[in-house]
Amino acid sequence: MRDETIPTHCPYCALQCGMNLRGVRQPDAAGTAVEVVERPDFPVNRGALCGKGRTSPSLLSSRVRLTEPLIRSHATGRLEPATWEEALRTIADRLRRTREVHGADAVGVFGGGGLTNEKAYTLGKFARVVLGTSQIDYNGRFCMSSAAAAHGKAFGLDRGLPFPLEDIPRTGCVILVGSNLAETMPPALRYLTELKENGGKLIVVDPRRTKTAEQADLHLAPRPGTDLALALGLLHEVVAQGRTDEEFIASRTTGWADARAAAMAHWPELVERITGVGVPELREAVRLFCDAPSAMVLTARGPEQQSKGTDTVSAWINLCLATGRAGRPLSGYGCLTGQGNGQGGREHGQKADQLPGYRKLDDPAARAHVAEVWGVDPESLPGPGRSAYELLDALGGDVKSLLLMGSNPVVSAPRAAHIEGRLRSLDFLAVADVVLSETAALADVVLPVTQWAEESGTTTNLEGRVLLRRKAVDAPDGVRSDLEVLGALAGLLGHEKGFPADPEEVFEELRRASAGGLADYSGITYRRIAEEDGVFWPCPEKEGDRHPGTPRLFLDRFATPDGLARFVPVNHRPAAEEPDAEYPVLLTTGRVVAQYQSGAQTRRVDELNAAAPGPFVELHPQMAERLGVREGEPLAVVSRRGRATGPARITTGIRPDTVFMPFHWPGEGRVNTVTNPALDPTSRMPEFKVCAVRLEPADRGAVA
Ligand code: SF4
Repeated sequence: MRDETIPTHCPYCALQCGMNLRGVRQPDAAGTAVEVVERPDFPVNRGALCGKGRTSPSLLSSRVRLTEPLIRSHATGRLEPATWEEALRTIADRLRRTREVHGADAVGVFGGGGLTNEKAYTLGKFARVVLGTSQIDYNGRFCMSSAAAAHGKAFGLDRGLPFPLEDIPRTGCVILVGSNLAETMPPALRYLTELKENGGKLIVVDPRRTKTAEQADLHLAPRPGTDLALALGLLHEVVAQGRTDEEFIASRTTGWADARAAAMAHWPELVERITGVGVPELREAVRLFCDAPSAMVLTARGPEQQSKGTDTVSAWINLCLATGRAGRPLSGYGCLTGQGNGQGGREHGQKADQLPGYRKLDDPAARAHVAEVWGVDPESLPGPGRSAYELLDALGGDVKSLLLMGSNPVVSAPRAAHIEGRLRSLDFLAVADVVLSETAALADVVLPVTQWAEESGTTTNLEGRVLLRRKAVDAPDGVRSDLEVLGALAGLLGHEKGFPADPEEVFEELRRASAGGLADYSGITYRRIAEEDGVFWPCPEKEGDRHPGTPRLFLDRFATPDGLARFVPVNHRPAAEEPDAEYPVLLTTGRVVAQYQSGAQTRRVDELNAAAPGPFVELHPQMAERLGVREGEPLAVVSRRGRATGPARITTGIRPDTVFMPFHWPGEGRVNTVTNPALDPTSRMPEFKVCAVRLEPADRGAVA
């Protein structure tokens, strides 16, 4: 590592906390270790980090990281060390052979929301230009697609937050729906604390009384899968109390009559029966929200990861529009993105239906623009492919070979045992990762790739702020970057040019590809990002002048053709799987503070593993008493798809009809074995957040 302190960003979640990395020479001459130093000048986290960010360098020098390619031996069936040339040639040969025998769409590509913008862009280009396949999607589909779809419908543009986080403490009221910031991104909790210190009100909607919900002025705990009815009930009450903003509705929106009619069919007593949230609480929420001079609704995975996630988010947006809480300073709807590059990863082409700049793959003008940047015939670009779960479900069927980067679907996909089986049934699987994840362990070829501090690249945080992670340390021998891998494979597959390994060179091309698109990065450069602590998109290039970037969207007009926001009429419908006699309990899932997503990285950090060594089954004392379950007793949570086990954790902080499990672990504790892959019809988001289960003490028969 160089001598100076290097400013960069955390490798984990979408907050993308700023941190400084510094080299520390080891006393035993064992080289230089990297340590995290506070970076108080970065506005998003002002120096604060959670345990994941603080310990993030430990994986750089971890004994468990991969430092040489592996190829599965025909003789032993085991992954054996190989040279880079052997590994890359094997991948290129197998992908080429799959194409020749079964056609281009028999090759699949699966990416991740943690990949930098440069990697996401290059992966999409590699799939469409080198492989010619339409079969590419990524794990961000599991995390952001419902909010993105609803954003697009209502506002004509999808950016997680239409305002910077710094606006939150200055608004009058926040409704936080299905987000547990205290566990998922603790440094962001201070925005809510400051909101309250300033006299603002906080309403938290969550079936659990989380650490975040404990901060709330009002906690609404709906039955999992009923957030849509709750939002409709609130809108009904807004209308009934005469709290709509008629001037805003008339001048800034369209479609109110149909949305109003849908809401009026959801009167408070009906909503109470569906959600379990009492009418007085509904009315109190409306009072707090409407009395405030400005207000925001922020959603996260709770309402989004449902088979009606898009409609659910639309209902919350309708509430904002009807009350004039959008397109105005300190007001609006926003989605709290989850993965490190959950925002940028959804903008530059690794989604099944998308080209860089948030362009649509089925738009002829978009195809022509991007094809020109790529130097190919627009006709050569394949059309839209399958969504993430549908792609994984097709493995071993018409998709025979898969190249996977930055994802661990064996743990993170719904109905995970089935998906693990699909991965095993492939003719060929190649995985690039930093550790031997559960998915990499199934591969025919594994490529060891660089980590965040060993390469430069941009990410776009939940605010739409494009950030630069700088290279701070050299990668160990034997490791290459994802961009080097894609460039080398492109070369072996006949594309010598167009796949540079230098991230800044890729970004320069991304700027041109995104120019004129919704997510326009053309005015952003590495230099600007470094000088300005990030630049908010859209930021088009302006001749002879600097576009300032766009921290706040929609203040003058929405991004629709006529500049008006769209109300989308929606109606409540039940979850895809409701409790019945055989599976009488609701399951919901989520995260814990010391682990991140599938845990591929954080489970390998001793401090984090000690803090959160395994899954648990959280249940209410009433349910525990009814079932005769004691604290710590091993429980199995069983659905129609399989079972997951963990010790009972009994708490009054959960609804009596619901159990909760975190999803970071493989094996017996893998809750995604149990979750339901029912898809939202618009976003194709699986229903991670609700399904029907029964509980079985591990050594007894079914008890609920
Ligand atoms: Fe990293 Fe997110 Fe923790 Fe910040 S909150 S340190 S970005 S994991």
